[in-house]
Amino acid sequence: MSDNDKYFEKLLKTRRIELEKANELSEQSRDAVQLDQTSVGRVSRIDAIQRQEMSKAGEQRRLKEICRIQSALKRIVQDEYGDCLKCGEEIAVKRLEFDPAAPLCITCAKI
Ligand SMILES: [Zn+2]
Repeated sequence: MSDNDKYFEKLLKTRRIELEKANELSEQSRDAVQLDQTSVGRVSRIDAIQRQEMSKAGEQRRLKEICRIQSALKRIVQDEYGDCLKCGEEIAVKRLEFDPAAPLCITCAKI
């Protein structure tokens, strides 16, 4: 495994832990809202439901990102990391620094 791969593997793993933690927290706060529901008024209940929807959307987004990270980590193990999944060209390091889970090079991502 190259130093570059090691660097990005660490980055990806740290990011995955952050996302998992964020999802745990968001689940916990959602449970707390549900427990509260009998005691809150109608307006604040609507508010609570909206907040729940938002936190669900956030969880979905994070789960998707975790999936992308898992695939990127798999590509590192298979020594395919940094190659575009579509054209096979190397993905620019700058692009990977911005998004270490990026599966496509900038050209293919634009299509
Ligand atoms: Zn490409």
